[in-house]
Amino acid sequence: MAGVTEQTDVAVVGAGGGGAVLALALARKGIRTIVLDQAQGPPKGLRGEILQPNGQSVLDRLGVLQSLPAEATRSVRRFHFCRAGGKRLCSIDYGDLPAPYNRAIVTLPNVAHHAIVEAVRKESCVSLRYGTSFTGLITEGTKVTGLTTQGPEGVGAIGARLVVGADGAFSKVREALKIPAEVHLYPEGYLIAIVESQEPVTESFYYVGHKQILGLFPATGNKVYLFYMIPSGSLDAIKQRGIAALQQVWAAIAPQFADLFRNLTDWNQTAYMPTGRVKTPTWVSDGAALIGDAAHAMNPHASQGRMQAMVDAMTLADLLPRALSEGDCSAECLKAYEVARRPHVTMLQRLADQQVFYWNTGNPLVAFLRDRVFQTLDRNARLRYQVLSTTAGLRQTAPFSLIDRVIAAGFLPDVCADRMTQRTS
Ligand SMILES: Cc1cc2nc3c(=O)[nH]c(=O)nc-3n(C[C@H](O)[C@H](O)[C@H](O)COP(=O)(O)OP(=O)(O)OC[C@H]3O[C@@H](n4cnc5c(N)ncnc54)[C@H](O)[C@@H]3O)c2cc1C
Repeated sequence: MAGVTEQTDVAVVGAGGGGAVLALALARKGIRTIVLDQAQGPPKGLRGEILQPNGQSVLDRLGVLQSLPAEATRSVRRFHFCRAGGKRLCSIDYGDLPAPYNRAIVTLPNVAHHAIVEAVRKESCVSLRYGTSFTGLITEGTKVTGLTTQGPEGVGAIGARLVVGADGAFSKVREALKIPAEVHLYPEGYLIAIVESQEPVTESFYYVGHKQILGLFPATGNKVYLFYMIPSGSLDAIKQRGIAALQQVWAAIAPQFADLFRNLTDWNQTAYMPTGRVKTPTWVSDGAALIGDAAHAMNPHASQGRMQAMVDAMTLADLLPRALSEGDCSAECLKAYEVARRPHVTMLQRLADQQVFYWNTGNPLVAFLRDRVFQTLDRNARLRYQVLSTTAGLRQTAPFSLIDRVIAAGFLPDVCADRMTQRTS
């Protein structure tokens, strides 16, 4: 191939949630991989981190779960959903899930990601290159045979048997593959903060109100993550009104944490995260595949975006030894990855959008229904388990059938309400 200066089996664009896990999974199979990321190094900024049971299982399989520093992680079992103002609606207990992943793990920012990157760096068959951007694809006819890069040493051209776009919702690889995408930006994003509490907080609280969502998730020590939904584009106005005004709003939503909110003293304790959804007609083409947000970003209500990127990575990695040994990375061969993954991801995207409709609402009737569903869940172990196992990433199908929806809205009794079956698919 003209101009190609090096050759690898797999070239991964993006060392984020999906790309780094893919690199590690491929390394464990002895597959030569080059991973490039335009960032100068692993992320350092503030971001919320909840490892759901399916993500824990992936990290366990890769031997990373055990290496997460105990002082940077906290296991959380109970999540309480409350009405803004304080009234408890429903409590969910991860302890109901099958062991050993019967908890959520909240980590300090980027802790899991750094552990994955450290593990990748130890692998001799992976070359991880920060400060290197993807600039284009190399093709022979319709088949992708490599990519071009711009890095610290100038421009480069890498020949690869498979190119993977793990470069996020605004994927340039997807664009270069000419895969059309419906990219939807939600009108709300999240202001995230991490604050120190005087008292230990051991359980999570999630408040829903009139166009209001405030989540509190305990991290290690007395640290607490706060997730506060705000209209996109409103951050500057919120900052102008000042921290005291924000503390007042939060205290009205969650009065029992008014003291905690006083520990937000500087905007440096906060970060803003926009939210988006990506839908694409295909995730594969001859010699290339998309994983994670590049293929299917989803609203964070699903609490699964990063987990799904990790599961994509594992599924694709499991398929590749055979595809590479047979010299077949055609779209037809790679399609098995998409067929295995798309139903679960589509279900989660739909579920997250339903949650956006009910949870983010300012309509009193919709809010009434939402609160009724939470209250039914509190009494109905069967439905509660179905919701929990979906959020945990262990259930492949939608949590509610049509009848379940009617029951959840309180219009039908449920004779099986006490039956909590540990069915995970
Ligand atoms: C408010 C909020 C809360 C969330 N909470 C959760 C949660 O609780 N649980 C959960 O599982 N998920 C959550 N998510 C979703 C999660 O953050 C994403 O789904 C996940 O990071 C996707 O991983 P990825 O690897 O596909 O993309 P990313 O992690 O975005 O990684 C993409 C990488 O590609 C690199 N890149 C981009 N363009 C190029 C280029 N041209 N060349 C080279 N490199 C490039 C970027 O630098 C980046 O490192 C949340 C998201 C938001 C917004």
